[in-house]
Parts: sequence; C-alpha cells; structure tokens
Amino acid sequence: MKSVDIALVACLAAGAASPAAAQDLKAVTGATVIGAGGAPITDAVVIIEGARITRVGPRATIGVPANATIVDARGKFVIPGLADMHNHVRSGSLRPQQNPRTNLSVLFAFGVTTVFNPSLSKMEFADLKTATASDTVPLPRFFGTGPMVTVKGDTLGTSDGGATPETEAEARSVVKDLKAAGVDAIKVSRDDASWASKQRLPLMKLEVLNALVSEAHREGLKVYAHAPLLDYAKDVLRAGADGLLHGIIDKAVDQELVDLLIRNRAVYVPTMSLYEDVADMAAWAKRQSAYDERKVVSPIADGMAAPNSVQLVQSILNDTAFTKSRMSIQRANLKTVFDAKVPVVMGTDSGFFGVVMGVSSQIELALMVEAGLTPAAALQAATINAARMLGRDKESGSIEPGKLADLLILDANPLDDITNVRRIHRVVRAGVVHDPAQVLSGFRVTSPPPPPNR
Ligand SMILES: [Zn+2]
Repeated sequence: MKSVDIALVACLAAGAASPAAAQDLKAVTGATVIGAGGAPITDAVVIIEGARITRVGPRATIGVPANATIVDARGKFVIPGLADMHNHVRSGSLRPQQNPRTNLSVLFAFGVTTVFNPSLSKMEFADLKTATASDTVPLPRFFGTGPMVTVKGDTLGTSDGGATPETEAEARSVVKDLKAAGVDAIKVSRDDASWASKQRLPLMKLEVLNALVSEAHREGLKVYAHAPLLDYAKDVLRAGADGLLHGIIDKAVDQELVDLLIRNRAVYVPTMSLYEDVADMAAWAKRQSAYDERKVVSPIADGMAAPNSVQLVQSILNDTAFTKSRMSIQRANLKTVFDAKVPVVMGTDSGFFGVVMGVSSQIELALMVEAGLTPAAALQAATINAARMLGRDKESGSIEPGKLADLLILDANPLDDITNVRRIHRVVRAGVVHDPAQVLSGFRVTSPPPPPNR
C-alpha cells in the first residue's frame, strides 16, 4: 500500500469537486431515503446545496430545481454515511508498517464517512485530523482520543505513548496534556485481561480513575472506557465514564450495570467483530474474506486465516478458549442493553490483529442483527447514535435539512437485508459524490508477508 497513490487519488477528487458555492446545487432523485428522521421516503428528492442538505421529501412535495445537477438514484437506497466508533485505522494484518491514510481510504470506500479512533499517538492524531479536514477528500471525518490512559505493565495499551498515572495529581495533569493536544475525548483502560489471556494486568487505583474522569469532565471532555469485564465496567461507570468501548463478555449484564449506563447517559459500543476474531480467528478471517465481494481487503483476511498468523496472535492472547466460551453471553448482553434503551453505537475494534479494515464495519451491522437488533436499529447505531456520542447530531447522523450531506447510495435495501450495506453505488461526503471503485483504484491491497514460523 503506497501513500503516493493515495495522494494522487486525493488530488483527482479535489480537482473534480467544485467549491461549496451557492450555485453548487445537487438533487439526488428517485431513491428510497432511509434515516430521514421518520419512515423511509420512496421516490424521494434530496436537495444538497454546497456541503449541506437543504430539503428532503417525496418528489411530489419537493420538486427538482431546474438548475440542480441531478444525481439519478432511481431504484436505489440512500442512508446516512456510516460511523465506526472504535477503529484503530490499521489494516488488521500483522504487518508492522501501516499507512493510516490508505486505511482511511479503504474505510471510506466501504461506506464509513466518520471514524473514531480510541488510542493513537498524539502525532498521528494531529496528522490524521489534518489529512481528513478538507470536505473534498475521499476520507472519513476523523475523531479520536489520543493515547489511552492505562497502567504500568500494559505493554499493548502504552504502545501509542499512553500515560500511566499513579496519583490523582498525575491523572489531572494527563488530562490537561491531552486537552492541550486537542483530542475529542479521553480513553481509559480498566481490564485485567482475563477475558482472553492467562496473564493478569494490574488495575488503576480507584482514586486515580475518579480524578481522571472528574478532571476530564471539568475540561469538557467525555471519557470512554476499555472495560470488557462486568465488574470493572461498573467501576468506570461509577467514576462517571460516558461509555463502554467494548461489549461485556464475561458475565450477563445485570440491572446494576444498566442503571449505571442510564444514569451516565453512557453509550455501549459492542465490538462484536473483535470478539468473533478472538474467539475463532481463522473462521472470522474466512468470513471477512467471503464478505468482501469486491476482494479489496480479502488478501489481508486470508493472511490472518493462515495457521501461523493464528498461532502468533494466540501466543499473545493465550486464553481465547475463555472468549469463545462466553460468545453467547456477549451477544445476549447487546440485546439486554438495547432493550433497556441504552444507546448502542457501532464499533468494531478494526486494526486489532484479524479485525480487517472496512469489511468488519459492514459485518458488525450483521452481527448486531444476528444478536436480535432490527436492521433499522443497527443502522441507527452506526449513524444517529454515533453522531450523538460525538455531540454532533445537529451536524450529521441523519438525512435532514441543515445537516452535512454525508450519505451512501446503495443498490439494494439494507432494511430487507443488512448485508446490502455492501452494495455501495456512491459515497458522498459534504455533497461531494465519490465512486468507491475510483477511491480504491489508485492502490491495491496485497497479501501481507506471512509471519515468521515460531
Ligand atoms: Zn480498540
């Protein structure tokens, strides 16, 4: 994957797009619009002026302005662009070298127009904010936390330069430092690793955790937690955290957890893709490869299905049998919190070894439906609920007047079959229409070299 090719694609797209001037008027006509704040609208017209949607409704009531550029979408389905709210913008392979911009392009071509990256270095955070800032680039809008705040001994968690505060004063200074770096939120870890490993990580002292959350809130930052175990998830919610970045895997969610989530108005990001991956990496890799009909990232998935890839990851996560034994609990937990009206937000943990960029965001929606959500609820998790998590629901997350025109035009109805989110005809960011095939045409994802034999 070469950055030079991505730069070329970006230039072509920028050249093709006209500035968001008053005369830049488009009408997306003839599609069924899903996610317009009510029931689907058939034979709809979506008027886009510059970057924003100005009118949406049936053709009979909206009409098509004579001077509008027509985007003919007869027989197609328009949904808001998807958001993946737990995505490390890495490919999911074992290759150490990564090009995040390439990964962002792949993500965009798979329909993700907003991405939230929990855990990345401050430098990478700043780079990706800059790279994605222009509305004309075929890349998702980028949000993130900077490096995760964790404990000494968490080698994976500190690999992005994460701080390990041991006193309340240190916790407060970590928050000030992250605030100064411009992060969108803060991520904290509370996990002994027992859901997938025989090793045990230490836990942050509760007074340090409490100081971290209260200082973050004082600075106007939300705090999201890596806390896949029930008891530790309760700890972070008692401290005031604003959401869980993984579903609960070890035990059935109980009323106490639900009450804490509701009290905090906290979100629940299930990352079912991560659990499918850890429970049975080879099977998950094959599922991703088969799901990727255009064969864009299937070489990466195929690489992760190889026995030596599986062996290498299992040498790090050496109790995946535990994960596997808890898969039905994890699925039932999503339905429990959803039924309790906790806002569920779509996130995959893409970039973790074996959770492959792009394709997993699409399969995550199918996993939610398999767990008992309707296709409409799964789409809401990836659109309006994600926008609310970011505090941007006035800007995006649905197809309504005044919002940014971030849309997908699909060839088939995702409410009939959620896997139809794969059938992407066009990806629209801020009114600029992109052909996903063209977004991907400048580069090719190749099979990563096999990991060394161990
Ligand atoms: Zn993660």
